Amino acid sequence: MFGWNGRILYVDLSKSKIVSREYDESFAFDYLGGRGFAVKILWDELPVGVDPFSPENLLVFATGPLTGIPGPSTGKMVVAAKSPLTYGYGDGNVGTLAAVHLRKAGYDVLVVKGKAEKPSYIYIEDDNVEIVDASDLWGLDTFTTEKRLRKVHGASIGVVSIGPAGEKLVKYATIISQEGRSGGRPGIGAVMGSKKLKAVVFKGTKDIPLADSPKYRKLAAEAYRVIREKPGYGFWRRQGTMAAVQWAQESSVLPTYNFREGVFEYSSNIDGYAMEKKKIGQRGCPLCNTICGNLIKDVDGEEAELDYENVALLGSNIGLGDLEKIGKLNRLADMYGVDTISAGSAIAFAMECSEKKIIEDRIEWGDFEAAKSLLEDIVNRRGLGDLLAEGVKRASKKLGKESESFAMHVKGLEITGYDCHAAPGMALAYGTSPIGAHHKDAWIISWEIKTERLGYIRGKVDKLIEFQRIRGGLFESLTSCRLPWIEIGFELEWYPKLFKAATGLSLDLNYFFEVADRIYNLMRAFWIREYKGEWSRLMDYPPQRWFQEPLTKGPYAGSKLDLEKYDMMLSWYYEARGWDDRGIPTKSTLKKAKLDYVISTLEKYVRLPA
Ligand code: SF4
Repeated sequence: MFGWNGRILYVDLSKSKIVSREYDESFAFDYLGGRGFAVKILWDELPVGVDPFSPENLLVFATGPLTGIPGPSTGKMVVAAKSPLTYGYGDGNVGTLAAVHLRKAGYDVLVVKGKAEKPSYIYIEDDNVEIVDASDLWGLDTFTTEKRLRKVHGASIGVVSIGPAGEKLVKYATIISQEGRSGGRPGIGAVMGSKKLKAVVFKGTKDIPLADSPKYRKLAAEAYRVIREKPGYGFWRRQGTMAAVQWAQESSVLPTYNFREGVFEYSSNIDGYAMEKKKIGQRGCPLCNTICGNLIKDVDGEEAELDYENVALLGSNIGLGDLEKIGKLNRLADMYGVDTISAGSAIAFAMECSEKKIIEDRIEWGDFEAAKSLLEDIVNRRGLGDLLAEGVKRASKKLGKESESFAMHVKGLEITGYDCHAAPGMALAYGTSPIGAHHKDAWIISWEIKTERLGYIRGKVDKLIEFQRIRGGLFESLTSCRLPWIEIGFELEWYPKLFKAATGLSLDLNYFFEVADRIYNLMRAFWIREYKGEWSRLMDYPPQRWFQEPLTKGPYAGSKLDLEKYDMMLSWYYEARGWDDRGIPTKSTLKKAKLDYVISTLEKYVRLPA
C-alpha cells in the first residue's frame, strides 16, 4: 500500500500496554483516513453506552493519505471520541506538526484507551513509544506545557496538549498545539483529561511511502503556485477569515447579543480592516501557504491570534467591540485549552440570564473584565463557571425559567459564527451537522445569501449535501484543509491527482463522495446507537430562538425561521440521504453504503425501516 502507512498505534494507559497493528486495504479504501478512520474505530471498538469520561472511551488521533506529505494545507489531523458534551460522535481537526510527525513515525492513527494512574504524556519516536510521568506538567497552561516539552525533546517535535480546562473536565475543552491551533470542540480535550493524559509528543523520522514521489513533488509545487496566483490570494493573506466580519455584518448574520441579532453596532471596530491596522504577524498550520491566523498585541501587550469565529463569539456575541480585549480572551482560551466558540456562547448565555434576572450574578453585555473572570471561573469550575462548564444545553436545563429558548446549541454543541434568523439553509446545515452545531461540514451560508436567501427550497438541501460530501467527507478524511478550496478557489480536481500520486489509485471525485456518504451514515448510526430510544428528529432542529424571536435590527429586521417549512426541508434532506422520517437510515441505505454490519446492532435499539 502506498500513501497510507497501514499501521495503527494503540496505547492503553491503564495497562501501560503499547501495540501497533496493521490494518488491511479495505479499511483504507472504504474509509480513507481522518474522520473515516475515527468513526469506524469508534463504531467497532467502543462499548455501547459508555460514559465519555470512563477509561473505556477511546481517544483517536487520525490522519489520512495526504497528511504530512508536503502539499497544500495537509498538516491536519482529526481528533475524535465519544463526546462528553453531546454524548454522540465528536470530532475536530487540528493543524499541527504532530500530524506530520505521527505519519513520519510510521503510523496513520493513534488510539488511546484506559486511564493513567498519574498525570502522564505519551512520547512517540518512530517505533519507540513510552508513557512518561507528567506530574510536573499537570496544572500548566498549554503554551507552557509545549515549551517545556520542546526543551526536553527538541524544538522540531510535534506536540498536542491540554490545559486546565481539559484537566478539570470542562465539557468543551479542546486539544491545543503550537499556541493557537485548536481542535476537538465537543470536549475531546476533556476526554484526554479524563485519561490523565496531559500531552502527546510526536517525533517521526521515516519517509511516508508514496506511489510516485517525483510526480507528487511536482504536482504539489504546481498546486502551491496555482494557489499563490489566484486573484483572492493577496487579500486572504492580509485578512484571512477576518474578512468575514464585514461580510457577516453586511449580510446580517454576525452573531450579536447571544444570537438575538445579526448586526453589531461596533462591527467596524472588530473587522478585518481594523485588524489590519493592528496586525503584527501571521500564524498557521504546517505545510500551508494560505495561513490564516492573524496576530495582534492584546490589551496586555501579549501576542494574540484572531480569526472570524473567535471574534464573532467572544466579540459581537457578548457585545464586546474591542479587538485587543477579544484577543486577550482568545489567548486565554487557547492557553487554558477551552473552545473559544462554546466559551463565547456560554458567556453570552450568562449575560442574557443576568439581564433577565434568571441568575443573581450581574454580568453586563460587553463587560470585558466580567467576561474574563467568567472564562477563568469556567476553566476552574468555580461558582457559575462550574455550571457553564457543562455547556449551555445542560446549564439551561438546570436554570429553567425559559432559558432553554435562548440556549444556542444543536445536539448540545454550541453554535458557531452565523446567525440564521434569515438563513434557513444554514440553519439546516447546523441542524444536520454530524457533531452538533458546527459549520465545518456545510458552510453554505455564503452561497445561500447570493441565491434565494429566504427561500425554503429543494436546491438548498442538494447544496447542503454536496458541501457535506466535500467538506465533511473528502477534506476530513484525506485529511487536508478545506480553506484553499472554499476561500481561494483552488479547484477540487487537484485532490484526486494528488491522491493518485500518493497512493497509485486512480479514483474520481465520485469515489470520494461515496466514501463521504458511508462516513455520514456511520456517524448517524453512532448517534442512534448511543441515544437508543431517545433519538428523534427533534435532535436535528436548531434552537427555538431563531423560530420565535424575529431580528429587530438591520436589513432583515422582522425575519425569523418558519418551523413548518424548516420541517419540510428536513424531510427532503432525510429523503435525499435515504433516511426515514425519524432521521434513521433504512436498511437499503446502509447496504448501499457497504454498512451491512451496522444493521444488526441498530436493530437492537430502534426499528429499522427496510
Ligand atoms: S488555511 Fe488556515 S486553517 Fe487551513 S491549514 Fe492553512 S492556516 Fe490552517
